[in-house]
Amino acid sequence: MSGCIFCAIIAKDAPSWTVYEDEHAIAFMDINPATDGHVLVVPRRHVKDLWEIGERDAGQVMEASVRVAAMIKRALEPDGMNILHATGAVAFQTVFHFHLHLVPRTRGDSIKLPWIPRPGEPSRIAAVAERITATG
Ligand code: 5GP
Ligand code: ZN
Repeated sequence: MSGCIFCAIIAKDAPSWTVYEDEHAIAFMDINPATDGHVLVVPRRHVKDLWEIGERDAGQVMEASVRVAAMIKRALEPDGMNILHATGAVAFQTVFHFHLHLVPRTRGDSIKLPWIPRPGEPSRIAAVAERITATG
């Protein structure tokens, strides 16, 4: 899609440090890495977010992510890994071409959970679960 930086990277019209490519997905280094080895995995097809991607494309991106995560593990031997995704500006999405962040983690690094886990009210959790289940 014109004006999309990730489409430009996929088309090789913009530079990137690409670490993996297949028929459906590509993976390149994030230019603002949270940690060393922070990689973005994106579908070749321009889709905006989790609500647009569809199950097949999402599966292909996830397959590529598992492969790239193994590559990162072999190369950098991190202690752990986060997969992060943002759908919507409210959820911190800034590039509106679907992507998964692979963020290698090292004990003692400075990354924090973006929420404080606190026990929820069981009746509220159950009511919300019922609303979600009812749409399936
Ligand atoms: P989001 O905030 O949408 O979840 O993540 C977008 C990510 O894309 C950010 O982590 C940002 O650093 C990265 N990014 C933005 N522009 C470019 C670019 O031109 N090249 C690369 N490699 N990454 C980019
Ligand atoms: Zn795009």
